[in-house]
Amino acid sequence: MLVHPNRNPPIMIMRNFIFWLSSKRSITDSLARRGMKNGFARRFVAGETLDEALTASDELCRHGRNVSLNHLGENVSTEAAAREVCASYIEMIEQLHAKSLGGNISIKLTQLGLDINKELCASLALSIAKRAAEIGRTIEMDMEGSGYTDVTLDIFENVQRATGNAGLAVQAYLHRTEKDLLRLAPLKPKIRLVKGAYREPKDIAVQGKPAVDANYKRLTTLLLEGATTGTFFPAIASHDPMMVAHAQSEAARLNLSKDKYELQMIYGIRRDLQQQVHAAGNILQIYVPFGTDWCPYFMRRLSERPANCWFVLRSLLAESGAG
Ligand SMILES: Cc1cc2nc3c(=O)[nH]c(=O)nc-3n(C[C@H](O)[C@H](O)[C@H](O)COP(=O)(O)OP(=O)(O)OC[C@H]3O[C@@H](n4cnc5c(N)ncnc54)[C@H](O)[C@@H]3O)c2cc1C
Repeated sequence: MLVHPNRNPPIMIMRNFIFWLSSKRSITDSLARRGMKNGFARRFVAGETLDEALTASDELCRHGRNVSLNHLGENVSTEAAAREVCASYIEMIEQLHAKSLGGNISIKLTQLGLDINKELCASLALSIAKRAAEIGRTIEMDMEGSGYTDVTLDIFENVQRATGNAGLAVQAYLHRTEKDLLRLAPLKPKIRLVKGAYREPKDIAVQGKPAVDANYKRLTTLLLEGATTGTFFPAIASHDPMMVAHAQSEAARLNLSKDKYELQMIYGIRRDLQQQVHAAGNILQIYVPFGTDWCPYFMRRLSERPANCWFVLRSLLAESGAG
């Protein structure tokens, strides 16, 4: 289960309550029926179809952002399902290209059959990257729970060696991440630095926001220093104003031009900060999720910030005529 590494007790209670709600089929079914129709899910989810995601992406690109399309859904359990997801990723990158929209796609290896067959998953990931390379596009790989870190690094390395157009998310909360970056450096990759979204034990990940933030800042500096020599293309992916400010001030200290790194944020989150970053002249890429399987993703965004629940309640009340 995805959780956020915040340890504030009232927030944890609210988060656990939302997770409990998300396990109640009657509630998620009702949300799923109303969420898109009523419009509240569209705050964090670009739509259920690729066309809707492309329309949202078009709007973002017209406002100077790049996008990374993400088809919602996680682990698949059959080869046929993995191949279907692979075909849909390829369609996503082709459509993005056909519509001349700036950006790429983000793929999740568990959606490509990582749990059933590593070789199959590796070959599907490679075929997506190859097709993207043929049309001059890039791909990014999400990082999932720590049980998948080693195999994700292996598959990423193979793909990047073969095609040179892949980027990888790494998680600042993992003790191992600095070592992983040193391993990846010879491939000169794009690295998306995130805090990390899974519950991990303390022998694997640092615990608590201050420690995660400290690691995030340290790794940001390491990546930006690497960018001065072309070793990394850092993508600083955070909605935390302190992390964004740290990246901007470190880039200024290193005299790093703004085309040598980028900021990334998620669709619908901290749109005020997105605007500030864009106005400051930074490259900004927005992670744009879409798909019919949006409910669990949507509930996780709610759980990250209880204030997000109010606009859902307001829209449900408005629909029922109560407010
Ligand atoms: C582009 C992108 C890609 C990502 N890819 C991955 C990945 O591949 N693997 C992975 O493990 N994690 C991924 N994540 C998630 C990441 O690990 C964090 O869980 C998530 O970004 C929250 O951390 P934060 O850096 O935004 O800072 P936080 O300290 O969590 O939050 C900082 C501030 O951001 C705002 N904020 C955060 N979340 C919300 C929200 N839901 N609604 C409104 N405001 C909010 C609040 O103002 C909060 O105070 C990704 C994040 C981004 C931005």
